[in-house]
Amino acid sequence: ANFTELGLISPLLSRLTELEYQQPTPIQAKAIPSVLAGRDLIAGANTGSGKTAAFALPLLQQFGQHLPINKTLSSKNREGNYVAGLILVPTRELAKQVADSIKSYAAHFNGAIKTVAVFGGVSANTQMLALRGGTDILVATPGRLLDLISSNAIKLDRVKTLVLDEADRMLSLGFTDELSALLALLPSSKQILLFSATFPEQVQALTQELLNDPVEIQL
Ligand code: AMP
Repeated sequence: ANFTELGLISPLLSRLTELEYQQPTPIQAKAIPSVLAGRDLIAGANTGSGKTAAFALPLLQQFGQHLPINKTLSSKNREGNYVAGLILVPTRELAKQVADSIKSYAAHFNGAIKTVAVFGGVSANTQMLALRGGTDILVATPGRLLDLISSNAIKLDRVKTLVLDEADRMLSLGFTDELSALLALLPSSKQILLFSATFPEQVQALTQELLNDPVEIQL
C-alpha cells in the first residue's frame, strides 16, 4: 500500500512527498488505517521502524482534517488549558525528537495545529508559557507533566487520544506511579495507542488494564 491508500489527507501526503518517504514502513501500513478508524492499538516496535509517523500521522489527521487550511485559527483545545492528543515518553531526548517530527509532519497545516513538548531537567516557566491557551498535541515525560498539572498549566480532561511511546522503558525507568496518577486524570472515553519494544509482565498488565479490544501489531 502507499500512503494515499492508507487514507491520509493531502496536507500530510504532500509533506511526505517533500520528505521523500516513498512508501509506508510495515508498522505504518498496519497502524495508520486502524488508528484513523479510532481503534486502540498495541504495537511491538523498535526505534528505526518508523513508529513515530505510525502514530503522528493519524493523530495529526484526526485533529487537522476539520480545520480550514490556509487560515490561522485557534482550535477549541485552546479555549482553555486543554490538550487533545497526549504522547507520553520516557526521556527528554525522545520528547524533543517526537515533537520535532510531529511539527515537521504538520508543516502543511500552516500553524493550525499546535504541538508542545514538556520534560524535566529544565525550568518549567518556558513550558508553562508555551501551554498557555492549551495545545492540540502535547509530548511529555510523566514527572514534569504531573508538576505542570499541579500548577494548573494544563488539564487532561479533554484528551481524545493517548499514546504511550516506549512503554517498556517508561516502566523500567520507574514511572509506574506517575503513569497511574496521570491515567486517573484522563477521561474514561479515549483512544489508546501503546508502543513497546518488549513485552515484560508489567507492560502486559498495563495493556490488559487500559486497552479496549486493541488491534495488535507484531512485526
Ligand atoms: P522512528 O522509528 O520513528 O524513530 O523513525 C526512524 C527514521 O525513519 C526517522 O528518521 C524517520 O524520518 C524515517 N522514516 C519514517 N518513516 C519513513 C518512511 N515511510 N520512509 C522513509 N523514511 C521514514
